[in-house]
Amino acid sequence: MKVYAVLGDPVEHSLSPVMHNAAFREMGLQASYHAFRVGINRLRDAIRGADAMGFGGLNLTIPLKEGAMAVVEPDETAKAIGAVNTVSFRGGIRGHNTDGIGASLALRHYGVDVRGAKVLLIGAGGAARAIAYQLSREGARIVVTNRTPERGLALARDLGLEFRPFVEIEELVRGSDILINATSVGMRDGDPRLFDGSMLRAEQVVFDIIYSRETELLRDARRARAKAIDGVMMLVYQGAAALRIWTGLDAPVDVMEGAVRAALRG
Ligand code: NAP
Repeated sequence: MKVYAVLGDPVEHSLSPVMHNAAFREMGLQASYHAFRVGINRLRDAIRGADAMGFGGLNLTIPLKEGAMAVVEPDETAKAIGAVNTVSFRGGIRGHNTDGIGASLALRHYGVDVRGAKVLLIGAGGAARAIAYQLSREGARIVVTNRTPERGLALARDLGLEFRPFVEIEELVRGSDILINATSVGMRDGDPRLFDGSMLRAEQVVFDIIYSRETELLRDARRARAKAIDGVMMLVYQGAAALRIWTGLDAPVDVMEGAVRAALRG
């Protein structure tokens, strides 16, 4: 029996155990996936302990993704992004980042081609960095905006992208083909809107990477008849990419999506 886990703090509400255990069952693997609450000060012990105990692999979530860079040997992608969401133990303790490819495959899943598209990326946290890295490699024309300019500027500088101040958000929304919310705004009921959603147009794609609830942004997008994409398939594809790193096998994405959506329905 191989053991896998997601580490984070908080981690109780993570959907990764439900999603990966459904995948393992479907694939007929003798494996189980768990969630462990680990703070940043015990991350090194936890990762080394998992390695010592023969774990199959780990996922990392808030607030561990950036701090893990100092504990693992990051691959090229994790290095460029500056964050690790997947750890493997074959040939050392290696760090990977599958969030960017997860977002890219989610867009492709819904028939969206980012090549040459004007993409407005809102946010400059770990998820935004991963998405910016991947979509810029695929030829998207990305403009980054973020509430805290220093963080947005740092992302734009590191990845060679354009940064525009948050106060310009409405003008930026109007000028974009694809709009990606990579902030945590919308996670909670009653969160304020990032901008007036009535300005969205039917030709636009609105990708909100939040997966825990139907956000106001997605509701605004549907009202405007824009293409509205939630964060579930990004979660599924980043998980599928992690599974491939750990096992070399293709993951059953339909089963994983079904497990996540069922868990969200409660
Ligand atoms: P993070 O590193 O904490 O970054 C949070 C981002 O949200 C920052 O850009 C922050 O701006 C912005 N923000 C927070 N409150 C704001 C407000 N009131 N107004 C404007 N901007 C605000 O978090 P993360 O790891 O990147 O995750 C961001 C979101 O993505 C979370 O909701 C997470 O659940 C989701 N996510 C989804 C997936 C998936 O697979 N679907 C994967 C990873 C993450 P400042 O810099 O100004 O603070």
